[in-house]
Amino acid sequence: MNFDTSCLHAGYRPGNGEPRNIPIIQSTTFRYETSGDMGKLFDLEAEGYFYTRLQNPTSDAVAARLCALEGGSAAMLLSSGQAANFFAVFNIASAGDHVVASSAIYGGTYNLFAVTMRRMGIAFTFVDPDCSEEELSAAFRPETKALFGETIANPALTVLDIEKFARAAHAHGVPLIVDNTFATPALCRPFEWGADIVTHSTTKYLDGHAAAVGGAIVDSGRFDWTAHKDKFPGLTAPDESYHGVTYTQRFGLGGAYITKAVVQLMRDFGATPAPMNAWLLGMGMETLPLRMAKHCANAQAIAEWLQRHEKVAWVRYAGLRGDKYYDLAQKYLPRGCCGVVSFGVKGGRAAAERFMAGLGLASIATHVADAKTCVLHPASATHRQMNDAELAAAGVSPDLVRLSVGIEDLDDLIADLSQALDRV
Ligand code: PLP
Repeated sequence: MNFDTSCLHAGYRPGNGEPRNIPIIQSTTFRYETSGDMGKLFDLEAEGYFYTRLQNPTSDAVAARLCALEGGSAAMLLSSGQAANFFAVFNIASAGDHVVASSAIYGGTYNLFAVTMRRMGIAFTFVDPDCSEEELSAAFRPETKALFGETIANPALTVLDIEKFARAAHAHGVPLIVDNTFATPALCRPFEWGADIVTHSTTKYLDGHAAAVGGAIVDSGRFDWTAHKDKFPGLTAPDESYHGVTYTQRFGLGGAYITKAVVQLMRDFGATPAPMNAWLLGMGMETLPLRMAKHCANAQAIAEWLQRHEKVAWVRYAGLRGDKYYDLAQKYLPRGCCGVVSFGVKGGRAAAERFMAGLGLASIATHVADAKTCVLHPASATHRQMNDAELAAAGVSPDLVRLSVGIEDLDDLIADLSQALDRV
């Protein structure tokens, strides 16, 4: 099936007389005839469901759909994007290990890595994603277990040179993990450029309607854990908490990483999506290609319009000729650069606040990346506690407005932006 067809049909094929839509299996537990049948599930000797904390048929169908869209070998859903990035790294790194990450990543992920996971004994080195291959290589240590970056970074809107990052990761015998939230597989499939594992905050475009918080991890199945046995004992040596199973032996390269994350981390941390939320995600993905095309077209037109506006100081959108990331976007994002645009209003913080107050159609929200246009002024919201000097250090100028362009009619959106800029 081609991509657009997979969005509708991958992961679930109803049998004769069965529901046309993915059924919502709203059940915590599953019944068996004998204890022996259930024992086989606990020993990972048979496939099946026993408790929704680990696996649920609705979630699995939706995970399989996303797996097909990314071109992976296995996938799992989680309760949030935060849980996805935590599991993706913690599945292969533990106390005493080290991870290299791009510094241009979502603030919540930065905090998870730099504060919370550091408290768990995992060290992180953050690198400028635009650094040279030599600088990137110099960040690795013998105990490094992964390299991490975002395809289109939130909120910096930098575009990751995935091939450069993949080369560096593989030269050091570790996988490249890419958070593909803003691009979605409709705009970029990181496995095609050498990434090994993809994560998502499905809360954004994949769901697309701001209906459910969720996350996902997809494995390409291409990283050879057994070629670096000593680095990844969790995958290549027996797991005592599962009767000595060795994941790479039992599930092969295609299944080892996700199986371990499900049976070990999901078992122990329980960051499970509700079946209803998984279903909403599956429904959202059906229209992903249509929505992403409209998001991109609207955002491109608005970025160009803003660039010509006399009250706008600057615009950042990788689809604009002359943007620092234009060339990388042409390579990795030929179908568009998503719906998120950032720009500065002439007159600084006060002007940005006046502009925001004047908007009628676009909602002021901390959310990004869904069907309805929303807008955020970080200096007076998420970064409110910082003074202008601190904002500059964080790369957030006082005039910065982050606009998440939705799929409304373009003329209506421009009319709203235009009247709000007139009031500044
Ligand atoms: N990754 C990226 C790129 C994000 O933008 C976000 C949230 O904004 C997350 C991860 C965290 O996802 P969630 O809010 O679903 O936990």
